Amino acid sequence: MSKQTKYIFVTGGVLSSLGKGIAAASIATLLKHSGLKVSILKADPYINVDPGTMSPLEHGEVFVTDDGAETDLDLGHYERFLDESLSQDNNFTTGRVYSAVIEKERRGDYLGKTIQVIPHIVGEIVDRIKKAGEGKDILIVEIGGTVGDIEGLPFLEAIRALRSEVGRKNAMNVHLTLVPYIKVAGELKTKPTQHSVGELRRIGITPDMIVCRAEMPLSKDLKEKIAMSCGVDRNCVIESPDSASIYQIPLSFLNQDILTPIAEILGLNELKPDMKMWDSLVKRIIAPTKETTIAFVGKYVDLKESYKSLTESIIHAGATLDTRVNLKWCDSEKIEENNVNELLKDVDGVLVAGGFGERGVSGKILAIKYAREKKVPYLGICLGMQLALIEFARDILNLEGANSIEFDKECKNPIIYLIDSFIDSHGKEQIRTHKSPLGGTMRLGSYECDVKPGSLLSKIYNGSKHIKERHRHRFEANPKYKESFEKAGMMISGSSNGLIEVAELKDHPFFIGVQFHPEFTSRLTKPNPTILGFIKASLDAE
Ligand code: GLN
Repeated sequence: MSKQTKYIFVTGGVLSSLGKGIAAASIATLLKHSGLKVSILKADPYINVDPGTMSPLEHGEVFVTDDGAETDLDLGHYERFLDESLSQDNNFTTGRVYSAVIEKERRGDYLGKTIQVIPHIVGEIVDRIKKAGEGKDILIVEIGGTVGDIEGLPFLEAIRALRSEVGRKNAMNVHLTLVPYIKVAGELKTKPTQHSVGELRRIGITPDMIVCRAEMPLSKDLKEKIAMSCGVDRNCVIESPDSASIYQIPLSFLNQDILTPIAEILGLNELKPDMKMWDSLVKRIIAPTKETTIAFVGKYVDLKESYKSLTESIIHAGATLDTRVNLKWCDSEKIEENNVNELLKDVDGVLVAGGFGERGVSGKILAIKYAREKKVPYLGICLGMQLALIEFARDILNLEGANSIEFDKECKNPIIYLIDSFIDSHGKEQIRTHKSPLGGTMRLGSYECDVKPGSLLSKIYNGSKHIKERHRHRFEANPKYKESFEKAGMMISGSSNGLIEVAELKDHPFFIGVQFHPEFTSRLTKPNPTILGFIKASLDAE
């Protein structure tokens, strides 16, 4: 019989956005660095089947896994902390759970029974948690939302039931709450924590550990008060004060000896994580010796959560290079011919991020032209790569009406065209696509890309002949134009079964456009080579 997986359930109280995902990822990281096989799961009580159709305004970034699942941005944190590639089994929502149950019901799998939240919906949640934990020593399960939300109840019931099924030593509950500072009273207040623990108890869950988010460190007395009023041991009240970098949190938890009570509760041997490398990277994030400035060109500059993986990947590269990377946020809608030079004159590199829709495209093209002509290091990601080709086609190849059919369906020179057109002429077996619920065909998940020897791409990937990166887009560079591009100095240095994956300028210190999203595979301890190469080039350009 396979070994019983142990579960750590992480719930949140008082309000959302407290950083439950970071707390969960931090605990997971400490356990992994102690030599355990750890995985992590996010269960989201909202009704959408997945966040793929949600606007970045609603839900921040959509994180894409190797297997092409469009998931919650917390999965990105998990991968970046844990340095593990997760899959669609590591994130599910109420929508997905109900769809699965209804499908079974229609097939007659329930043999005529009445289908109810208990046991059917809760049972489906429990099965999914167990599946995500198969073969692992420990599975961390983060329940999205806040205790008290109506839609969260089946999830809480599932973790309550699962704990009683596997027994006390095989599961524990960690509850994350807010301890607010009330200015007029000059005090940190514990009452909201007591109330949310009370709410958990009402539904049959007793927390073993409380993690307190606060603006400042908690006094010994306050921790004792929380321990007493919430019925947890004194060493099970852990503080998580605001910190300069999210990567400090595992170290802060470790300093508070969080692993001793975890090992005790779960019946594990003494845990001694090796965090030396992590510690030195964090020191370089907080107090690096070098500095560089990148123009971050995008249309959601007021909504930085929608570029979470990208900004984190830049932090990873900075940590490795002992460099603070300052981001100059440039709203692409505000870039015009008469201000582009002024806007970009002091930056060491230009980054055009991915995106959908025409808004802000002309500003992005101006920024690309600036980087190309002024020989400033340039990295274009996904849409940023497509626009680099369009800019080149218009300005250097003098192709009239050069555009993407995303913005002009009838354009004379479709430099970027629909994936479906590629499939029609090259055959379906070349490419694995997903039909999106909105009807479009999306290229999602990890693909291998062949690297041209001697190229910049080859150099930044240390001579690798094949690399693997993740995709999320509907349009592709049109191979019809490949020859004209190459003749004029825009080399296609990465390709995959005839698809154009990477383009780079020969006569430029660093100008590269990648159809994939390198940011999705970057981890603190293993920065992505494309991002690292770009930051390094910007540093050299100073
Ligand atoms: N809108 C473009 C496409 O769908 C680029 C997408 C992206 O940047 N992720 O192909």
